[in-house]
Amino acid sequence: MSEPPLPPIGMLAELTHRCPLQCPYCSNPLELLKANRELDTQSWLDLFSQAADLGVLQVHLSGGEPTLRRDLEQLIAGLSARGVYTNLITAGVGIADGRIEAFAEAGLDHLQLSFQGARPATTERIGNHRGSHEKKLETSRRARAAGLPLTINAPIHRHNIEEVPEFIDLALSLGAERLEIANVQYAGWALTNRDQLMPERAAVDRQAEIVEAARERLTGVMNIDFVTPDYFAIYPKPCMGGWARDAFMVTPDGTVLPCHAAQTIPSLSFERFGPRSLAAIWTDSPAFNAFRGTDWMQEPCRNCERREIDWGGCRCQAMAIAGDAAATDPACEKSPIHARMAMLIDEAQRAATVPSKDEPFVYRRIGVVTEPA
Ligand code: SF4
Ligand code: SF4
Repeated sequence: MSEPPLPPIGMLAELTHRCPLQCPYCSNPLELLKANRELDTQSWLDLFSQAADLGVLQVHLSGGEPTLRRDLEQLIAGLSARGVYTNLITAGVGIADGRIEAFAEAGLDHLQLSFQGARPATTERIGNHRGSHEKKLETSRRARAAGLPLTINAPIHRHNIEEVPEFIDLALSLGAERLEIANVQYAGWALTNRDQLMPERAAVDRQAEIVEAARERLTGVMNIDFVTPDYFAIYPKPCMGGWARDAFMVTPDGTVLPCHAAQTIPSLSFERFGPRSLAAIWTDSPAFNAFRGTDWMQEPCRNCERREIDWGGCRCQAMAIAGDAAATDPACEKSPIHARMAMLIDEAQRAATVPSKDEPFVYRRIGVVTEPA
C-alpha cells in the first residue's frame, strides 16, 4: 500500500457467541467460542477507547446475544463517555427486568431487534426457542417505553419469505423507525443450510415488489431497508463497504477481522487485540492489507468501471464458490463462473424437495462443529 489507510468509522463488537437461539443462518462462525474465551470487561473498554482514538464513530454491540454479558451497561457507558454512537443488536429473549432501562440510562443510542418470523410459530421454529416471539414483543415495548429508537431486523429465506407483508405490519405496530428486510447471505451457518434456506426466484421477485410498494406507501412513516440476495443479483454488494475500508469487526476473544466470514479464507491469519494495538492491526496487518483498495484485483474487476463502487464484492463468497479469495465475486454477471450461482439455486430447490425431518436445519449450537484445540 502506498498511502496509509483512512481511519475506520464503524465497528461491530461480537461480545459473546452465547445465544439462547439457534438460527440456522447465523453469521457467527461454525466454530463458536465458549464463554471462557471472551475478553474481559477492561479489555473491551481498552479496545473501545482505542477505537474512539482511531476515529470510530459508531459501535454495533452484537453477539451471539450481547445482553448475556453482565457488564453490558458498563461497556455502553464506556462508549458513551467517548461520544461513540451505540447500537445494540439483540434477539430480545431473556433480558432481565430493568436492564433495557439501564442500557438507556448508560447512554445506549439505538436498539435493533431481530424477529425470525412475523408469526409466533415461525419465530419459534427458526430460532428453535419456545415462547421467543412473545418475549421479543415485550422487549420492543420496553425499548420504546425507555425512549430508544427501534429497528426491526427480519432475516429472510424460504421459510418466511411469504411473511414479508406481515413483517411490515409488525414493525409498524411496534413503533419501529426502521425495518431491515435482509435476505440471508450464504456464509457460515447459512452456507451449511443453503439448500434448506434458499428461496425460489419467483418468491424473491414478489418480495421485491411488495417491499417497493410499501416503501412508497410508508415514506415519512417508517424506513424500509432491503438487502437483496446475492445469488439472484447482477452485481455484488460492496461487502462491509469494501475490505478494510471503513469498518471492521471483533470476535469475542478479541480477534480483529475485516468481515464476519474472513476466517474462512485459509491463506490469511488474523491478529488479536492485546498483543497488538488496534491502530497497528488496522494499518499494518497483512490480512487487512490483502484486499484493501483495488491493487489486488484480477480481471474483470481490475479494469471495471464499478471497481470503486462494489470493491469487487465479497472475498469470502469468492473463496466459497470460486475457490479463490482474489477472484471476482461470482454474484457479478461479469464473473466467468456467474452461471454457477444459478446452478446452486436450482440445486437447492431440488434438494429442498426432500421431505423434512424433525430437524430440517443444522441448528446453530456450540459443539455442532468442535472448537480447534
Ligand atoms: S442469528 Fe440467531 S442464533 Fe445467531 S446470534 Fe442472532 S439470534 Fe443468536
Ligand atoms: S467485475 Fe468486479 S468490480 Fe466490476 S461489477 Fe463485477 S465485481 Fe464489481
